[in-house]
This record gives sequence, structure tokens and C-alpha cells, in this order.
Amino acid sequence: MIKLNNISKSFGRQQVLKDIDLTVEKGDVVVILGPSGSGKTTLLRCVNYLEKPSDGEMIIGDYHLNCKYASKKQIHLLRQKSAMVFQQYNLFKHKTAIENVMEGLLIVKKLSKEEAIVRSVALLEKVGLGNKLEAYPSQLSGGQQQRVGIARALAMEPEVILFDEPTSALDPELVGEVLSVIRKIAKEGITMIVVTHEMSFARDVANHIVFMDGGVIVEEGTPVELFNHPKEERTKQFLKRIT
Ligand code: ATP
Repeated sequence: MIKLNNISKSFGRQQVLKDIDLTVEKGDVVVILGPSGSGKTTLLRCVNYLEKPSDGEMIIGDYHLNCKYASKKQIHLLRQKSAMVFQQYNLFKHKTAIENVMEGLLIVKKLSKEEAIVRSVALLEKVGLGNKLEAYPSQLSGGQQQRVGIARALAMEPEVILFDEPTSALDPELVGEVLSVIRKIAKEGITMIVVTHEMSFARDVANHIVFMDGGVIVEEGTPVELFNHPKEERTKQFLKRIT
């Protein structure tokens, strides 16, 4: 389980997250929606400390962290509980697909090279890239690069995978292949938090939708509650604009 209590984040004088409370149960697929600038990406980045929250408390699995007083060691441990899939893939350009997946297994998980190879091959096969093990990112399409990014995240066996607009850099014809991989791993019970503008994905795959605006969670609920019976005016206006 992941629990965020009163998470706040400011950049200089601008407070972009205001006392966010969020609970994510094991196996949940949570989609975060909201207008541009509402704080979605910042919230995701706070969960694995790519941004340091200004205040609040985080519980991931059995790990508790008071954000204000976290030590480097605590942050390092917390980071291992989550894995991020980035909009721009963020692969190592000079490493092949398999080397990208192996990296964390060797460095963080301390597997032997043989074990890391076996595990990476299995993961790349899972995301449909069993025939691209030795390809460099420049030899892969955006969709394929993102699937390497997903395999790399899965390799860490984190408590939660954080997807930051995983399809928004892709050409439209490549979006489907990435969403179907995310769908597949969601069905396997991987806990995930996904920031996306893909409404049909949110409707079909999420079991919990969070609508953010102005750095706060305005409303949250099941897809049916949020999409079919939004309560808040801001949610209604947002949905009217995007559907
Ligand atoms: P989008 O859908 O456009 O990606 P978002 O909801 O993910 O938007 P964030 O990227 O979290 O929004 O940004 C929230 C606010 O925080 C914005 O006003 C943004 O300009 C500001 N912000 C984000 N990162 C930084 C930073 N590193 N330094 C200063 N301000 C930042």
C-alpha cells in the first residue's frame, strides 16, 4: 500500500501541491487526470523523490518517511520502492535494450551477470521485444523504446510503477502498442499510478481516478463515478473540455 499524507511542494514562492492525501492499495491502477499545470507530474515525481516534497509523510509498503527530515539513506531506500516510466523514455543511448534493462539488476539488485541476462530477456519478451535485445535506442521506434522503459521498471520489482504521460511523446500509431503493454501488466496486479490524457485507457484500465486542479485533489473515485457522475463543477468543466 502507498499512503501520501499532506504532501506539499513549492517551487520558490509557487506552491504547486497543497496537502495531498492519497491512498493506493496493492494492485490498484490509479490514473491522475487534470489540466496542464495542475501538479500531476510533480506529484508523481514526489512519490519517488525526483522532487523533494516540502512537507508531508509517505508510506510505501512497510516504509515510512517524514519528507521534511528525510536523510539521503532513507531517500535511497524509498526510491527502490518505486520505478518511473518517463514521457521521453530516458534510456541510456549508448546501451542496447538488454543492457538498459540489466543496468538496475546489476547495480541496484546486485544480480550476477548471468541472472541479469536471463531476467532481462524474459522481461523484454514480455513487452514484445524478444527480437530487439541488442538494438540501441536509436534503432528502435518510440513505442519500442517506451516498452524497454517499462521492462526496465518491471525489473526493479517495485511496490509501484509511476507512469508519467507514457504515450504523449509518441506518434499516434504507436500509442496503442504501449497502452496494451501497460494494460497487460495492470492485469497481472502490478500497482501503478499513471498520469495520462488517454481517457479511454483511464476508463477501461483504472480502478481509481484522481482529478487534480490547482495543486489539490478536487475529486476522486471509480471511473464510473468520475466520468459518469462527477460531483464537482471543476471536474465537470474539465471533462466537458476533453471529451
Ligand atoms: P502537464 O499536464 O502540462 O504536464 P502537470 O499537471 O503535470 O502539467 P506539473 O508539471 O506538475 O503540472 O507542474 C505544476 C506547476 O509546477 C506548473 O506551474 C509548473 O510550471 C511548476 N513546475 C514544475 N516543475 C518545476 C520546476 N522544476 N521548477 C519550477 N516550477 C516548476
